[in-house]
Amino acid sequence: MYIRVNLRDNVAIIVDPEGFEAREHIPQSHKIALSDLAAGEPVLRYGSVIGYANRAIPAGSWVREEMLEMPVAPSLDDLPLATAVPAPLPPLDGHSFEGYRNADGSVGTRNVFGIATTVQCVAPTVEFAVRRIKAELLPHFPNVDDVVAVTHSYGCGVAIDAPGAAVPIRTLRHIAMHANFAGEPLVVSLGCEKLQPARLFASELPILESGNVIRLQDERGFGEMVAAILQAAEKRLERLNRRQRRTCPAADLVVGLQCGGSDAFSGVTCNPAVGYAADLLVRAGATVMFSEITEVRDAVHLLTPRAETPEVARDLIREMRWYDEYLARGMADRSANTTPGNKRGGLANIVEKALGSVAKAGSTALRAVAGHGEKVTSKGLVFAATPASDFICGTQQLASMNLHVFTTGEGSPYGLALVPVVKVSSRTALAEKWHDLIDIDAGRIATGQATIEEVGWELFHLILDVASGRKTWAEHWGLGNALSPFNPGPVT
Ligand code: CA
Repeated sequence: MYIRVNLRDNVAIIVDPEGFEAREHIPQSHKIALSDLAAGEPVLRYGSVIGYANRAIPAGSWVREEMLEMPVAPSLDDLPLATAVPAPLPPLDGHSFEGYRNADGSVGTRNVFGIATTVQCVAPTVEFAVRRIKAELLPHFPNVDDVVAVTHSYGCGVAIDAPGAAVPIRTLRHIAMHANFAGEPLVVSLGCEKLQPARLFASELPILESGNVIRLQDERGFGEMVAAILQAAEKRLERLNRRQRRTCPAADLVVGLQCGGSDAFSGVTCNPAVGYAADLLVRAGATVMFSEITEVRDAVHLLTPRAETPEVARDLIREMRWYDEYLARGMADRSANTTPGNKRGGLANIVEKALGSVAKAGSTALRAVAGHGEKVTSKGLVFAATPASDFICGTQQLASMNLHVFTTGEGSPYGLALVPVVKVSSRTALAEKWHDLIDIDAGRIATGQATIEEVGWELFHLILDVASGRKTWAEHWGLGNALSPFNPGPVT
C-alpha cells in the first residue's frame, strides 16, 4: 500500500512494505517509482519537482536520496504577488475556551508567575530561587499553575548595538511580557551586563518601576539575593492567585505551528491535518503562525500568490532574501536544513521537506508577515520569520503565541515551560511507541482509519480544551526545552 499525493506524481510513499509487488524491499515512508524514470527526468511529489533523476530508475524501484539532483531554489526576483488570493472561508462561530483575560486584551492559556532575566549570569541563581518558590510558596497559591524563569544565553559578551542584536532583544522583551505571565514579570538583572533592564524594556516603562527589578550586584551575598527574589515572588503570587479563567472566543488564540523530526509522512498526514485545523482557527477569528524559513523557502512560489496584498508578499520575500544572505555569509544554503533522521524517514532533500512542511499553513490567505521575534498583532494566517531549529523557532514564536502545535515523524519529546505544546505524530507506529508523549496520532490518515478533516477537527477541539487548562503530555511530564533566542549579531 502506498500514498500518491497528486495525480502528476511519478513517485509515491510506502505505507506498508508488505502486500504488493516492488522491485526491491522499500522501507515504510520511503519512495517508490510509479513509472520508468529516465536520467534527467523530473521527479514529482505534491505535483512539484523534488529533484531530477541522475540515472535511469525502473518502475517499482526504491527512489533514494542519492538518485536525485536537487533543483535550485525558486528565484525571489519574479514571484507572483497576491495573484491568487483565496476567498475568505465562511466564519466559524460559537467556539470558545476558558482563558485568563489580561488588562491589555491579550489572553493567557496558563496562569504562570514569570521571572525575566537580562543575562545568562543570573540564570543559576534564579533557578535556585525558583526551586525554593515551587517547594515553599507555590503550594499556598493553588490558582497559579507554575513558576517559569525566562533564562537564556543572551545579555552580555555581544555587540549590543549591531543591527542583529535587535532580534534577541525584542524576542526576550515579548516573552517577558507574555500573556501567560499576565504581562507583569519580575525582572532579575546582574548589574553590569550589556542588556540593561532599561534596554530590554525600552517600550514597557512600568516594568522598570521600583519593586519590579532585582539587581543581584546590589544585594549582600547569595542568601540576600534569593531572599529578595522570594519576597517579590510572594507578592506577585498573591495577585496571580486571584486570576480566574473566563469564557473567551476562539479568536483570542494565537497558535504557533512547527514541525520537528519530520518524515515523508509528515506532508500527507500530520501537516495537512494541522493545516485543516489552521483553517478552522482562522475561520474562528484566531491567529495562526507558521514559521521555519528554510522549510518555506522552496515553497515560496506557492505562498506569494496567496498573500492578501502585494505588500504582504514582498514582506515574505524580504524575509526569505535576508535568510538566503544570512546562510550565504556562513557559506551554506537551505539544503543544510535536512537531518539524518529526515533522510532515514524518507525525505530526499529540503525541497521535498518544504513542500510537506507548508501544508501546515492550510489554505487561507496569508494575512501578514512578522520579522524575527516581532510580536504578531494580526489575526488570520501569519508567517512569523524564524529559523527551523525547533528550540529557536519555539522561543521566537513565544513572543506571540499562547499555544503551540508541534508535528513530528521521527519523534521528539520537545516541550515549552511557558505554553502548552500539543504534539501530533505523522505515523501510528510513533504514537504507539510514544503513547505517553504524543497527544494526537495523525498516522490514521495514512491507513485510512481517519480523514484529514476528522483529525483536523479533533485537533481543533483539543486545542480549545488545552487552552482551557487540559494538560498535554509535555506538561504532564514537565518538559520545557531551554529558551534559545536567535542571535544573528556578533558575539564579542
Ligand atoms: Ca522545526
